[in-house]
Amino acid sequence: MAALTEFELIDRFFRRQENSAGNARGIVLGIGDDAALLAPTPGSQLAASVDMLVSGRHFFADVEPEALGHKALAVNLSDMAAMGATPRWALLAGALPDADPQWLKGFARGFFALAKAHGVDLVGGDTTRGPLNLCVTLLGEVPAGEALLRSGALAGDSIWLSGALGDAALALAHHAGQLVLTADEAAACWNALLRPAPRVALGLKLRGLASAAIDVSDGLVGDLAHVLEASKVGAVLELAAIPRSEALDRQLASSARDIALRCLLAGGDDYELCFTTAPSHDPRVAALAAELGLELRRVGTIAAEPGLIVQDSSGRPLAPLPQAYDHFAA
Ligand code: ADP
Ligand code: MG
Repeated sequence: MAALTEFELIDRFFRRQENSAGNARGIVLGIGDDAALLAPTPGSQLAASVDMLVSGRHFFADVEPEALGHKALAVNLSDMAAMGATPRWALLAGALPDADPQWLKGFARGFFALAKAHGVDLVGGDTTRGPLNLCVTLLGEVPAGEALLRSGALAGDSIWLSGALGDAALALAHHAGQLVLTADEAAACWNALLRPAPRVALGLKLRGLASAAIDVSDGLVGDLAHVLEASKVGAVLELAAIPRSEALDRQLASSARDIALRCLLAGGDDYELCFTTAPSHDPRVAALAAELGLELRRVGTIAAEPGLIVQDSSGRPLAPLPQAYDHFAA
């Protein structure tokens, strides 16, 4: 088969009828001109975020393309969730080593399945040849003034986590031979790493309810620290309350405890939401968990004194705390 040109590739894999102008989703002009023209909902603010996934850094080069398509969008959807924004329009910039139709088909399948599930339209992008690298820009909308920020947590607020933390990091620790999972556990952990479920519905429900929110992408300790810094407060967390899978719990009780603890508290790639609410709202959060069919756990309390303390079951602070991933740390 003749090699695909750049524009054939875009047309065949990324330009879709349902994502073009006239679908009543605010697209005045979609893929095909020098820029897309979008019509935001009057009275809303645009939430804009971008996330880059680099081969060998954020994923293994031989990862299933469908999973990569899913994840490239999911990590951005998670940022929208953390802002309480409705995701709307995506732009996809990719460097590809070659135009492999099988690979592109799988990637597009993963990307568009998740986009469709969240009502997101792909309205543009850029495609070049180069070392595999995917970069998605996502635009969302939020009613003016209602976005969830990192800066609103107050002393006495409850701290909550959705889902469970640490499984994605556990998959990598297992892969690196640092601990041993059963085949079933490993499959579940790989799934958490490759197919995170962004908590968009939760984020929307937290508007007017949460005082602060962040998505856990670099590990709880580091991400919660961003909230504490922005809000000029501290926090006390109960280790026993931090939600985790049975697989991770089992590792915590094994000789691999330190590694499991790092996965739980600083592993990253979780894409769960960490948010704070006034304590009077605790019953509303419990009701929300039931409504969404999503585990929401109260894991601690915001404190007036700066600093993050994680207490073990006897009330002793863990020290030192595992540190969050930093691309530029020595
Ligand atoms: P320009 O040279 O003006 O930047 P391009 O020739 O790179 O435009 O792209 C042509 C059109 O295709 C543009 O509308 C661009 O947004 C879109 N596009 C390019 N790559 C992708 C992609 N991977 N996914 C979606 N749209 C893309
Ligand atoms: Mg271009």
